[in-house]
This record gives sequence, C-alpha cells and structure tokens, in this order.
Amino acid sequence: MPEQTAKNLLRWCNLILYAASPIVPRARRAEWLHQKHREIWHWVHFLVESGRLNITTEQELFRHCWGSFADALWCRLNRDKTLAFLRSYPATPRFCLVSIFLIVLAALAVSPASLWRSPEYARNAGSLLNVSLNGNSRWLEPELLWDAAVDWSHNPLVAGAATYAWRPSVINGPAGKQDVLSARVTPEIFKLLGAKPLFGQTFDNDDAPCSDCVVLSDAIWRKQFNGDTKLSDEFVRLNGRRVHVVGVLSDRFRLPDTDVQVYTPFQATPFVRLPGFEWPGVVLRLANGVPANVAKIQREVRETNFPTPALLDVLSVSDIRYRSVRSWLVIGAFAILVIVCLNWQAFRQLCTTRPHRTTLDVSRWWGFFALKTGLLVAFVWLLSVNVVDGVLQNLGLVPLHIASGVTMWAFLVGLNVALGWSIRDQNIRCRLCLVRLRTQIVLTTSSVPLLDPSGCDLLCDRAHGMLHVPAMQFSSLDSERWIDFDESWQTLAQDT
Ligand SMILES: [Zn+2]
Repeated sequence: MPEQTAKNLLRWCNLILYAASPIVPRARRAEWLHQKHREIWHWVHFLVESGRLNITTEQELFRHCWGSFADALWCRLNRDKTLAFLRSYPATPRFCLVSIFLIVLAALAVSPASLWRSPEYARNAGSLLNVSLNGNSRWLEPELLWDAAVDWSHNPLVAGAATYAWRPSVINGPAGKQDVLSARVTPEIFKLLGAKPLFGQTFDNDDAPCSDCVVLSDAIWRKQFNGDTKLSDEFVRLNGRRVHVVGVLSDRFRLPDTDVQVYTPFQATPFVRLPGFEWPGVVLRLANGVPANVAKIQREVRETNFPTPALLDVLSVSDIRYRSVRSWLVIGAFAILVIVCLNWQAFRQLCTTRPHRTTLDVSRWWGFFALKTGLLVAFVWLLSVNVVDGVLQNLGLVPLHIASGVTMWAFLVGLNVALGWSIRDQNIRCRLCLVRLRTQIVLTTSSVPLLDPSGCDLLCDRAHGMLHVPAMQFSSLDSERWIDFDESWQTLAQDT
C-alpha cells in the first residue's frame, strides 16, 4: 500500500516536472530533469517510509514541484543579469519616457471619438460665419436675432441664413434621463451645414412645423435606442414633453459653437420665453468666401441695431476652432506659471544644479524634462476629459452645463500633481546620463554643524557625478549642488 501511494505521488510530481522542463535550455534539460527527479524521489520515499505523509506534507511537496517552473525560468534567464536589469532599468530615462508614452496611448484609446472628430460641414465651410452673443453682452431674444437673420439673408453677399436657440435640457427615453443641450432650429440649418440624416428626415416644411418632432444626434440615438435602425414611432420626453423622433443625424454633424444633441423646430409651440437660459445664434453662408466680403458682412452684422442692446461675435469655423485651442493654451500656460511659482524652491534647484559641462548635456537635460512634462500634460488633459465626460457625466454626478468647468478643475489639479512630480523626478537624476541617482551617502552631523557640510550625497551608479543635498535647505553656507566627477571615477565604476 505505501508503495502504491509513493508511485502515485511520484507520477503526479514527474508530470509537473515534465511540463516545466521545456522552459530549461535544451543543453541543460536532461541534467535538470535528472536532478529534480532524484530530489523528488528521495522526498517522496522519505515521507512514505517514515510515516510522515499527511495532507500538509503532500501540499508542501506539490508546492515545491510547482516551484520548478520558476526554477526552470531562472535556468533560461541569467538570474544575476535579469535581477540587475530589473533593478536598474526603471531608473533610466528611457523607461520613464516609454511608460508615460504608453499611458498616454492607453488614455487616447479610451477617449471618446468626439474628441478627435472634427465636425463635418459642406465643402465650402470657409465661407460659413457663426453669429452668437458675446460673453459680455446682455441676453437677446432669439426671435429678434431671427428677424435680423432674415434681413441679412437679403444681402446679395449672403447665400443663406439659419437661426438656432440652444438651452440645457433633460431628455428621458428608454435608457433613462440624460442631460443634453437642445436647440430650436430653423429648417435651413441642416441644408446650410450640409447635414444628411442617417435615418428618417430633418425638418423641411417651413410653413407647418411639426410641434412635437425632434431630430436626435447619433450619440443620443445610440445611447437611448442602442442604435436601432428602425425608426417607427419612437418617442422620448424632452423637458417633460412627449416628442416624436423623426430623424437621426450623422455623428459628425454639429452646430459650429455648441455641442447640441437634440433639435426641435424653431417655431414649435408651446413657446416659452427663457431670458438668460436660452441662447440664440445664426449661421450665415456667404455667396463666396473672399476675405473682403467676409470682413464686410462681419462689420454689418456687428453694427445691426436691436431693440435691446446686444454685442455680437461673428466668427468663421476656423476662428471658433482657433479660439478654443487658444483658450486651452492660455489656461495651460498660466497654470504652469502658477505651478512653477508654487514649486519655486524645487524649480530653482533644478536650474542651479543643471549640467554645465557641454551644450549637448544642457540640451539633453532640458529636452528630457520638456518631453516628459509635455507627455504628462497630455496625459492629464486626456484623463480629465475622459473622467469627466466618460465617467462622472454618465453616472449623472456632473450636470452637462458644469462639465467643462469640472474638466478644467480636474486638469488644473492633475497638472499641479504631474508638474510637481516631474520637477522632483528631474532633481534626483544624474545630470549626464539622466539615470535616477540611487546610491545615497548620509553625511553625519559634524561637531561644527554650520561649517561642515551635512545632509546627504546622491551618487550616479556610473560615477558621472554627485548631487549634494544639504540638511538645511535655506542655509547660506551650504547649498544644493551638482559635482562632476572626472573620467578616472568612471573607469573605477566599470571595473567594480
Ligand atoms: Zn550618470
């Protein structure tokens, strides 16, 4: 009976060893297997013959057998070299850049497609002008702007005009409530912006607008109806009112200045006046996009007199894109300035201890810092957009109208963390090879503390130099400094 138990155990253990053996290099495989077999054979017979075989010792034996996979892997890899590589590689500048680059790629992969897809307008989008209220202007009744748009469309330089009025709204469909921007639009807008419905239709009949009809964007259609291609008797509630979905637009259709997702006819009843809540706009298509004509129309539109004073912005599609990029750049630059001031001490150390041997060293040092920081800024921006747009808004934690503000705050907080880390990381890198300094020498407190240097020295493993960090940062006698070693030290480091 004990013989049979030993045989069974050995069979299972040998099976595991055979499974692990292909990992071992072919030249050493037979020897490795022989050694392992012998080890297991002795172990099993010792347990069986001494009567110590129980569930605990058996589990211990099997754990040892499974461990042969790791053992086989170490036979394949050079243990010392691999461990040394794993210890030293994370300190290199390449590892730092590659890992940040990979997380930027990962953030890009999960970003909403709308972030990259620019809206698609009809071919001559250069001649489109968008009229909207200036940020400093008082509210203007959308109907007044509509009347003005009809007047502007009589100008021979203007080929067409369409009016819209957008507002924050709530849509309630099969997938539940959702914060959206909805807009009342005149029917010409779809033709003017070159939109063709994916299915269904847009509003065509100017004289008899369908009061309870809506056209949805592709994103809302996907979310509420799972992108179902049938469009028969689909209803949703828009601000509590039951409305009929008559069409779905391509995901590349967008009004020039706002991300409107639901469109209703401009003259639909019931009509409610919403001062300070519903914002008007007009899209003008010029007969030709000659710059002189564009400037002339812009001036004429701005000079229009309304019963209530209003300031108008008249911008082309490219002006609007440029304005949003510019505002992000201005905010980013200002935030970086503030963050550098907040981390002034660390940043000053970065400047005072920079390499000073050759121009190449200096440019590599600042180039690495700029690339690392740039990638981090891109990551923080993507992360803040993704988290707010993709998570908080979908969970209903952030209402749509404050989403951009929350994105901005998330970006600023993330930027502070990222830039602070980037400066600290740069500070503890070798000024020549940019590898993190890991060898630390703590200087003991001397008998004359204010005269002798105290604190710690950080050494480059390749003996390029040493960073001295004083115990007292604000001491006038001792300051943080980088000391270059001569080449004889590097020869010494290679020998050891
Ligand atoms: Zn170095």
